[in-house]
Amino acid sequence: AKDLGRNRIRFYEAAMQADVQERLALEQDLKKAMAEGQLAAYIQPQVDAQGSVVGGELLMRWSHPVRGSVPPARFIPIAEASGLILPMGAWMIEKACDAIAQLQKQGKPLSISVNVSQRQFRQEDFVERVRNVLAQTGATPSCLVLEVTESLLIENLDDTIARMTELVHLGVRFSIDDFGTGYSSLAYLKRLPLYELKIDKSFVQDTPDDPSDTAIVQSILSVARHLNLRVVAEGVETQAQADFLAASQCDCLQGYLFYRPEPLGGWLDGMLRPARE
Ligand code: C2E
Ligand code: CA
Ligand code: CA
Ligand code: CA
Repeated sequence: AKDLGRNRIRFYEAAMQADVQERLALEQDLKKAMAEGQLAAYIQPQVDAQGSVVGGELLMRWSHPVRGSVPPARFIPIAEASGLILPMGAWMIEKACDAIAQLQKQGKPLSISVNVSQRQFRQEDFVERVRNVLAQTGATPSCLVLEVTESLLIENLDDTIARMTELVHLGVRFSIDDFGTGYSSLAYLKRLPLYELKIDKSFVQDTPDDPSDTAIVQSILSVARHLNLRVVAEGVETQAQADFLAASQCDCLQGYLFYRPEPLGGWLDGMLRPARE
């Protein structure tokens, strides 16, 4: 048994080492990925209770020349740890504002959400950067939704509020991503200048059958209603989930049931093409 344990530890150490090497390799490749056009912006459309598209969330995709598609869950943490998330995230905000500007020219004021990581948000000149992109693209600021996580928000709360307030004064909107999965304290909700909560897909998944998840979703919706916040449910995969959410007056739904993430460029072409009779 002792040997077995020792082998297991050796195996574990080897696996850890392999993971470290793999991360380093991915980090090297990621440095080139942007310059070589391997990164792409995808969009997952969001719908209202009637099923009309009201906006969408931008999601990054990496098509590696050898490995093929690398999932964001793998490369985003590496991008965050290495600082590469700064140019990558800035690029996504540009893509979002560009899309907003194109849509609004066609009389379609859809909102576009973009994920903002902790490091990006804490960047000294983050507000200035957002202001510049808005000015350069001519995008309506209120169509830009920045998705941030609870952990980002509660770290340095006073600082966070000050920074958010500056951005809100520009007209930009804030959404809390993965709501309910972090160390959420309901108390901070009323202090933050928020527009929206996104119910994490882990809660949506087992509704309406699981009584606790159903209760959690309904509580989030009730809190949001009282605080006058919009709610997006993510990861909606079944009609039963959609029916439950609509009946519970959830404003906005996102998930494979309606749309999968698709390349932003192609989606925009479809949206901008004049409708035919
Ligand atoms: P997230 O922000 O929570 O994004 C939602 C994730 O759920 C996306 O995964 C999306 O493809 C997936 N999803 C959408 N509908 C469904 C559904 O019906 N069922 C299931 N099972 N999944 C669904 P994705 O694209 O793999 O992204 C994973 C995470 O990577 C994102 O989670 C976000 O935290 C991060 N990420 C992606 N793009 C960016 C980015 O540009 N910047 C930053 N900072 N993070 C990003
Ligand atoms: Ca998100
Ligand atoms: Ca989420
Ligand atoms: Ca997430």
